[in-house]
Amino acid sequence: PDGEPVLHVEDLRVSYGQVQALRGIDVTVGEGEIVGLIGPNGAGKTTFANTVSGFLPYEGTARYRGDEVAEVGQSDLVERGVIHCTEKRDLFGFMTVEENLKLGAYRRGEEARDERLEFVYDLFPRLVERRNQNARTMSGGEQQMLAIGRALMGDPELLVLDEPTIGLAPVILEDISEGIERIMAEDPITIVLTEQNVTFALNHADRLTLLENGEAVKTGSPEELRGDDYIRDSYLGG
Ligand code: ATP
Repeated sequence: PDGEPVLHVEDLRVSYGQVQALRGIDVTVGEGEIVGLIGPNGAGKTTFANTVSGFLPYEGTARYRGDEVAEVGQSDLVERGVIHCTEKRDLFGFMTVEENLKLGAYRRGEEARDERLEFVYDLFPRLVERRNQNARTMSGGEQQMLAIGRALMGDPELLVLDEPTIGLAPVILEDISEGIERIMAEDPITIVLTEQNVTFALNHADRLTLLENGEAVKTGSPEELRGDDYIRDSYLGG
């Protein structure tokens, strides 16, 4: 319905047995917004990403366009445009770059798929040069780019990008930054971005939440968080 946020999360709690990974998180993501979840190792970022994509049981509320994620279920969420790009990338190593990309568009017709392929190649020219290379022989950064490209092939309405910059060299990081900027300029989508790289997240997100130990300790715009003493001292090197 109109006015309904794309994602609305309230008092979200997730546990793995005795380990409580999220302890009551509130996050709302509006149409066309990039919302960042930042925090150190073990803060709960991946747990949040996996939960909103429908991979984990939870308590509290997590609604995608008004419908409870747990009721919609993971595979219907994909059908409805919730595309998850994991930290671990999940590429098909013995398939080529192009085959991996095409698989990302399995929901779509051939024509739409080819159009989309052109869009992704245009966004990440590095993938064009390597279109016939097996995914497993790509560098870590190139694989990350491929994983994002494949997610984009699915024409996401909500892209869940889990730690896209982890372990990336600055050059590739720059390519991915530019890619995100171009998507938002040309064909904006809604993104949940989890990141340990606070600077990267501040550069791209409209609003951010800092998670520590499963709790939201700060929330605000990039300007607000850049000006926050605690964030500056603990996450931006003072
Ligand atoms: P990182 O940046 O290191 O990936 P993160 O912020 O993504 O960290 P999570 O992966 O969400 O953090 O983990 C949050 C907490 O939940 C951690 O204490 C972690 O050890 C725990 N945890 C995550 N997955 C499991 C699991 N399958 N079983 C038990 N505990 C888990």
